[in-house]
Amino acid sequence: MSNPNSLFELLHAAPGNHTAVILPEAGIQVTYDKLREQVMTMAGDLAALGIGRGDRVATVLPNGLPAIVSFLAASIAGTAAPLNPGYRQEEFSFYLEDTSARILLCPPDGAPEARKAAEGRVPVHSIEMDDSGFVRILDAPAQGTHSSAAPEPDEIALVLHTSGSTGRPKRVPIRHSNIAASARNIVNTYTLSPDDVALCVMPLFHVHGLVASTLSTLLSAGTVVVPAKFNPLSFWRIVRDHRATWYSAVPTIHHLLLSRSGKERPQGSESLRFIRSCSAALPPEMMHQMEQSFGAPVLEAYGMTEASHQMCSNPQPPAPRKPGSVGPGTGVRVSIMDAAGSHLGTEQRGEVVIQGPNVVAGYENNPEANAKSFTNGWFRTGDQGFLDAEGYLTLTGRIKELINRGGEKIAPREIDEVLLAHPAVAEAVAFGVPHATWGEEVAAAVVLREPQSESAILAHCRDRLADFKCPKKLYIVETIPRTATGKIQRGAVATALAGNRG
Ligand code: AMP
Repeated sequence: MSNPNSLFELLHAAPGNHTAVILPEAGIQVTYDKLREQVMTMAGDLAALGIGRGDRVATVLPNGLPAIVSFLAASIAGTAAPLNPGYRQEEFSFYLEDTSARILLCPPDGAPEARKAAEGRVPVHSIEMDDSGFVRILDAPAQGTHSSAAPEPDEIALVLHTSGSTGRPKRVPIRHSNIAASARNIVNTYTLSPDDVALCVMPLFHVHGLVASTLSTLLSAGTVVVPAKFNPLSFWRIVRDHRATWYSAVPTIHHLLLSRSGKERPQGSESLRFIRSCSAALPPEMMHQMEQSFGAPVLEAYGMTEASHQMCSNPQPPAPRKPGSVGPGTGVRVSIMDAAGSHLGTEQRGEVVIQGPNVVAGYENNPEANAKSFTNGWFRTGDQGFLDAEGYLTLTGRIKELINRGGEKIAPREIDEVLLAHPAVAEAVAFGVPHATWGEEVAAAVVLREPQSESAILAHCRDRLADFKCPKKLYIVETIPRTATGKIQRGAVATALAGNRG
């Protein structure tokens, strides 16, 4: 592995004739030479469209080569800002404005809500892939390849958002050097090599799919197989056809695969060196079942947007992987801190704090969040846990308010605000409830000021919130339980109404 410090260097690290990306549905394979050529052409086109360093390029694309090429091109010409295609118009409006998007890239037919949000504010360009697997901006002025200097390591490659406890998502500016460090850590953890074939089933608008499955593969000169979306029916066929050596996913995906597996080991699974699980807690029982059914070691990892993804991972055999633990820090310093900022000892519970070249310097334009999140140079993750004598981290809970639905993070306050915007709703509180497939699911309680049906209120939510954020259960109540001091505690409301801790 070479030692790049930017996505430009990372893209140029591998031998040209090796296969970089495979699109299984389209039967397209793209070499590193071809990937580089189209990324640099699109970077040139973006420059011709006026995109310079720091300018945000919003993209709304399903998984596939267009998402990978536009991400790399945007981060080389300016800064990439990939958005979840599942958002509604209001959500797109927020993200386009909050990122100060200079341009929006969409498929030629699609992303109607994003296009509506951009109307009159942000120029929209369609990007298309031809039959040979070459992706281009359809209406770009012909410019050829990007000629300006490669980005510096401390320039912002990528802007993502994380759910904030205030309801407004926080903007996370990720530098080229942060991503390169994270990709390097992942390559080292799993000794990824040019012989590895990763199957990417996580979305490319999130660091899990982008950094763990895709960029670490490009850094190690391996091959990444990218279906348009996860489908449990075709999953093992793709693994078998392309001899995938690993995949990384949230427990929800492992659960869906397990629930379809029979007594026999799935055909194709013999090529898997390991399976990685990240972004939500993997129950030890599920880990055992997966190892038995799929015949490969299951390595649970711990990641976060602010750390450009990976912080910890269980190691490969023969080193021990511990069920229920997310493993030791992987090129990242991990410690446990109390509320006052003192470091705690082994086996003592407190907030997980981290340090490392993959960790961002701070949230953008958010001094309040930065003051809360950094203590003496340590980043506070908002997660709670302890370290054992061998340095393995076990997560025990969360300090931050967040619902983790199959790895998608949802700020309950954002749902409260949407519910409160309904004229019949006087009070609202959203919370998470345990769910067999999703880990956690969204529920909410409302106090009404005038009669209204549950379905009308849920329809109001669906118009304004991406599906994954909409409450699946709504409790219409007389009063919302409060503490003696009048505060709403989401966990207590969840227990009182749903009989579970949220
Ligand atoms: P994101 O920024 O979307 O990657 O979310 C990061 C958060 O996901 C972390 O702060 C944790 O709360 C959660 N998370 C990530 N990995 C795990 C894991 N293995 N077990 C439990 N929670 C996890």
